[in-house]
Amino acid sequence: MWEVASSLHPIADESRVMNNLTIGVLALQGAFAEHMKMLRRLGVEARAVRKPEELAGLDGLIIPGGESTTMALVAERWGLVQPLKAWVQAGRPTWGTCAGMILLSDRATGQKQGGQALIGGLDVTVNRNYFGRQIDSFEAELSVPALGDAPVHAVFIRAPAVTQTGPDVDILADLTDSAGQSVVVAVQAGPILATAFHPELTDDLRWHELFVGMVAERSGVVEVEE
Ligand code: GLN
Repeated sequence: MWEVASSLHPIADESRVMNNLTIGVLALQGAFAEHMKMLRRLGVEARAVRKPEELAGLDGLIIPGGESTTMALVAERWGLVQPLKAWVQAGRPTWGTCAGMILLSDRATGQKQGGQALIGGLDVTVNRNYFGRQIDSFEAELSVPALGDAPVHAVFIRAPAVTQTGPDVDILADLTDSAGQSVVVAVQAGPILATAFHPELTDDLRWHELFVGMVAERSGVVEVEE
């Protein structure tokens, strides 16, 4: 019997069942091609999503990093904001990285004047450019118990951080900033995963494996142990 997603499996064991899954990557702007490559390495079909109708038939969706204001503007222009909200509200598995994390958050601070459309669904507050005040981009080793003992190398690019979490949000990783303050940089709440950094820019497949496991569990491909 297959176990739930939160305990990781060797890729070789998983690929047999993952072949049936199709995961969309919102491809309006930003680092979508890198996510698609990682998914394909896991034996998952990856589909670029640019139109509302391309959400049909997907088992999961990744909203990549990039620039959240631009991505939201393009999504509005292409009629994607409401379909994306409906997708998330229906409880479909969704992973936001960096700008994607901002768009999935219920509340954001540090937004550009006039704000921006948020898709929402994740009960957190993000500070849109949390680290910007200190340094634009940096890399760090994170301890992420959900991904096993080996530390995770994380690439932060004008990254947000989670400054407040609702009661049903699990914290997967935090980081001590240059002021000695601990801030949350990865969370999961049911079918939603959000990371402030860019796993698709490293060679470590573990975050994609975790998400694919979440998708498989919810699409019925993987049996959940009682
Ligand atoms: N802080 C950026 C924003 O507001 C996100 C940066 C990123 O995705 N690398 O969209």
